[in-house]
Amino acid sequence: MQRTLGQLLSHRAHLTPDKEAWVGADHRYTFGEVNRRVDLLAAHLHATGVGAGDRIALLARNGEFHATTVFAAARLGAIAVVLNWRLPVPELQYVLGDATPGAFVYEEEFASVVAALDGVPAVRVSSAPDGGEDTVADYRQVTTRPWQPLATATEPEPTDPVVVMYTSGTTGKPKGAMISHDNLLWSAQGCAATLEWHGRHRFLLVAPMFHIGGFNPVVTNILQGTPCVFLPDFDPVAVWDVIAAERITTMMVVPVMLQALLAVAAATDVDTSSLVNVTCGGSPVSVDLIEAAGRAGITVQAVYGITEYSGALTYWTPEMGMDAATTQGRALMFGEIRIVDPDTGREVPTGTAGEVWCRGPMVFVGYWNNPDATAAVTVDGWYRSGDIGLVDERNLLHLKDRLKDMIISGGENIYPVELERVLARHPAVHEVAVVARPDARWGEVPVAHVVVAPGSTATASELIAHCREHLASYKAIKDVVFTDALPKNAVGKILKRQLRAA
Ligand code: ATP
Repeated sequence: MQRTLGQLLSHRAHLTPDKEAWVGADHRYTFGEVNRRVDLLAAHLHATGVGAGDRIALLARNGEFHATTVFAAARLGAIAVVLNWRLPVPELQYVLGDATPGAFVYEEEFASVVAALDGVPAVRVSSAPDGGEDTVADYRQVTTRPWQPLATATEPEPTDPVVVMYTSGTTGKPKGAMISHDNLLWSAQGCAATLEWHGRHRFLLVAPMFHIGGFNPVVTNILQGTPCVFLPDFDPVAVWDVIAAERITTMMVVPVMLQALLAVAAATDVDTSSLVNVTCGGSPVSVDLIEAAGRAGITVQAVYGITEYSGALTYWTPEMGMDAATTQGRALMFGEIRIVDPDTGREVPTGTAGEVWCRGPMVFVGYWNNPDATAAVTVDGWYRSGDIGLVDERNLLHLKDRLKDMIISGGENIYPVELERVLARHPAVHEVAVVARPDARWGEVPVAHVVVAPGSTATASELIAHCREHLASYKAIKDVVFTDALPKNAVGKILKRQLRAA
C-alpha cells in the first residue's frame, strides 16, 4: 500500500497520468501535471532550506495553489499549517506564534495580511508577487520550471504529521490538530468504502480546505482518481453555474450551504441535472433538509465529522432508511465508536447517553505544542469527542449535543439542541441558539437567543409557552434574547461561547 500522501499522488499519476485532476477558473491539470507541479514546488522549498518536520504556513483560498502546497509539504516530510483566511490578524498572529513556521506560502490577495503579521519567516512563496519584494518567490515561475524527479532526503513515515489544522474554536482557543499521512489515507479509504463517491464522479470543492471536511476530499479524490473542480468562494448562484458548466456530480457541503443552494434552485431555473449526491455534515443535517434535497433530485449522504478524527466518523445514507435519518448513522469503515460515562470512563449500556469516544487509524497525532490538551482528549487510542450521544440496538448513533453546551439545571441534564429543534418549529423563529445562564436557584437555566423571521413578531412569553407545550417544563427556556444575527464561524457554526459570555 502507498502510505504517504506523496506516494499516493505519484501512484495516481502513474495510473492515470492524462486524466483530469484539478480544475480552476484558469487552468485544467491532469494527474501527471499535478504530480510534476508538486515536485517543482517541493524542490524549490527544499532548495530554500525547508525540510522534514518544518512547518509551512499556508494562507490561500480553495484551489490548486492550496492543494499543491500541502502535497509539496508532504513530499518533503514537512507539515502544512493550513490557515483560516477568514481569521482577523490577531487570531492569525496567535496561530503563527503557536506554529512557528519556517516558510510562508500565500496567495497574493493576502499579501497585506502577511505584511501585518509579526514573525513571518523569510522563506516565502506567493501566487503572484506584485514585484515589490524580490525575496518572495513567484509560484508561477517555480511551477513552470523544467521538471526533474525530486531529489530530496528521506521519505516521511506514514505516522508523521503532514497537516496542522487549527480547530474552528467554537468552544475555546484554537488548537493545532496534527494529522498524519496515515490518518488522511485511512479516512479517505473509509469514505471510498462507505460513501457513493468514486472515480466516475466529478467533484466540486467549495467547502473551505482549511477545515478537514474541505481537505479530506482532496485526498479521497486522488485515491479514487476523481476530477476535482475548486471554487474559492461560496456564492450559491455561481456554484450552480459551475455545477452546470463542469457537469459536477457530487460535492461536500455544510447544511447552510445546502440550504442556500436549494433555495436558489427552487427560485430560479438553474440546471441541477448533473448533481447526483452531496455529502453534508459539520453540524446537524435535518430530515427537512434531506427531504428538500430529495425533491430536487439530490441524494444526501450525511456525515458527522471531527477534525481530530481526520474527517467523517459516522455516516447516514438513504439505504439505512428514512426512519434512521434523524440519527448520525453508523461508523465509517475502519472506525469504532463507544459511548462512555464521562465521569467514570466506563462504557454505558446500549441506548444510554454518554460521551462519544472513537478509535481507529484516523485518530489524530495530537495537538501541536500542547501535550496537556492532547492528554485530556485521548485514552488508550480512543479520542474523546466531547459530544454526547447514544448508540441504539441497530448500531445507529443519536447525537444529543456537545458536553460543553449541555445545561445542568437543578441536577437535570438539558440538551440545548432539543430545545432548539422545538423552537425552530415556531413560525416566528428564523434562527435560534440555546445556551446556559448561571442561576442562583437552579445552577444554570436555558436561555434562547432568537433571530425573528422577516415580517414576524414574537414575545419571550410566547416562546417560553411554546417550549412548555412541547417539552417537560423543567427543560423550557427561562428567557429569550432577541438579536439581529447569531455569531458564527466560517462554516456557519454558531459560536455559543460568545453567546454564553454575552
Ligand atoms: P472546537 O473543537 O475548537 O470547539 P469544533 O468542535 O467546531 O471546534 P470541528 O472539528 O470543526 O471543531 O467540529 C467537530 C464537531 O462538529 C463535532 O464534535 C460535532 O459536535 C459537530 N458536528 C460535526 N458534524 C456533525 C453532524 N453531522 N451533526 C451534528 N454535529 C456535528
